Amino acid sequence: MLGKDLLGIEDLERPEIERILETAQRMTEIGTRDVKKVPTLRGRTVVNLFFEPSTRTQTSFEIAGKRLAADVVNFSTAGSSLSKKESILDTAKTLDAMDPDCVVVRHKVAGVPKRIADVLEAPVINAGDGAHEHPSQALLDMLTVFQQKDRLDGLTVAIIGDIAHSRVARSNIYGFGKMGAEVRIAGPPTMLPADVETLGVKAYCSLREVLDGADVVMALRIQRERLEGACFPSVREYAATFGLDRAKLRYAKDDAIVMHPGPVNRGVELSHDLADHRPSVILDQVRNGVALRMALLYLISGRPRTRAESPQE
Ligand code: ASP
Repeated sequence: MLGKDLLGIEDLERPEIERILETAQRMTEIGTRDVKKVPTLRGRTVVNLFFEPSTRTQTSFEIAGKRLAADVVNFSTAGSSLSKKESILDTAKTLDAMDPDCVVVRHKVAGVPKRIADVLEAPVINAGDGAHEHPSQALLDMLTVFQQKDRLDGLTVAIIGDIAHSRVARSNIYGFGKMGAEVRIAGPPTMLPADVETLGVKAYCSLREVLDGADVVMALRIQRERLEGACFPSVREYAATFGLDRAKLRYAKDDAIVMHPGPVNRGVELSHDLADHRPSVILDQVRNGVALRMALLYLISGRPRTRAESPQE
């Protein structure tokens, strides 16, 4: 059940996803208490190693760790020896020598969390690597959908926007697919991944088609930081073609829900109205992010660890 690290949804089996979601569902109750703290991870240390900006993910890993009574250290790359050109692996090994029980890594380059995990004794959780994977986001998305629909199996999930540059899309495609949902994608052709067929999803070029019969509509942010050239003529045209508003949402099922991993470009991927009101569940996603990350920290850093002997001893 769950390996040392959590690097991507691609590596997980369905029972592992189910176990994480069940644990997270139990964790949601702690967030409703007056005193939102349990002693489960007392004496454990979680290091947040974020090399790329983050609001939701970093804060929720921190809150999650604190709710479980772990000591949480937010490593700031700005004031560190990285600015003295220490390599990422040396930085990670240095932190590992301080015996953390979990290291949460975000980096703009795909594969960096894996490289770090390969040399670290501590378990590593990937908090987003380039356009590769963002497993905790997909898990909190699945938890949110499960709470709304009571199932994942048999649902139709439409993911819209910049799929090619989105780690959220990739993780959700794996995740919802493994849980028995039908995943469809749509976006400008330049924003659809080249390996779309191998991902087992059907790609559409029109919003009307992709939304037809959809239970879940997930809009994605245009990843300007990862776009190498113009992938679409203009933001205005993108919003007109793929931006979601209440009128276009009518193509989906009557009880469809709207999701977005954030941050939202208001008026581009989603109208202001949809960003703020039902059937949007964006703030449920954020709230569930804490419970889901509590579950991950509990399942991954709460295990007894046998530490290898240091060669210097
Ligand atoms: N917050 C998500 C991520 O880090 C989605 C986004 O930035 O568009 O990938």
